[in-house]
Amino acid sequence: MTPMTTAGLSRRLFLGSTAATAATAGAIVWLGGPRALRAAGTIKPNAKSALIVVDVQNCFVDGGTLPVKGGADVVPVINKLAGSFDNIVVTQDWHTPGHASFASSHAGKKPFETAEMPYGTQVLWPDHCVQGSNDAALVNGLKLPTAELIIRKGFHKDVDSYSAFEEADRKTGTGLAGYLKERGIDTVFVTGLATDFCVAWTALDARKLGFTTYVIEDATRAIDLNGSLAAAWKQMGEAGVKRIQSGDITGV
Ligand SMILES: [Zn+2]
Repeated sequence: MTPMTTAGLSRRLFLGSTAATAATAGAIVWLGGPRALRAAGTIKPNAKSALIVVDVQNCFVDGGTLPVKGGADVVPVINKLAGSFDNIVVTQDWHTPGHASFASSHAGKKPFETAEMPYGTQVLWPDHCVQGSNDAALVNGLKLPTAELIIRKGFHKDVDSYSAFEEADRKTGTGLAGYLKERGIDTVFVTGLATDFCVAWTALDARKLGFTTYVIEDATRAIDLNGSLAAAWKQMGEAGVKRIQSGDITGV
């Protein structure tokens, strides 16, 4: 796949590729069509598959500090998906107060502007997901009693971490790759918030690490900042990430 750059948002803005297409091992699906027009889901997760639920936290839904439009809509979809997976991993954005990704930590900067960091360009966000706050808690209603691991990320004060695998310095691992590999997992299905940031970076890193990687589109919602959503899908498609819907999974 294309080598990672260190430049925050621009990392996914410079590539051209054909649109992402679903590759569903022969499944007949009508992507984007009404559920009634679909063939039954034919993708069957197995013991080597993991559902990764990215950052479904109060901060990223209505009433939170960095709400993603329709963010809470992923909750029932993810709850339903959970029944099809033996292995579930949850992530939480988990920042220190005064974290370097906050605009408030940079004199004269406003949220959604950018700053140059030692590791590249960083989008600056409103203060969000501060460790231990209710804002950083998982959304009420997310029902994942069988989840086996919670990975917290972005807890180094000077480095952001969109990806569940690797921090934005592109050097510091979170440990998730080792966990999945030690447990014999070779396929991941990524869901959560937001499609064009933490979900996309997680999916791209999963590919880089050799995992078969699906993003379940209707179990995600996007921020879509300056075309970031289309750029993210384009980059994920080029990297071999498979774009599917929850109904493509057997039994969902
Ligand atoms: Zn964050």
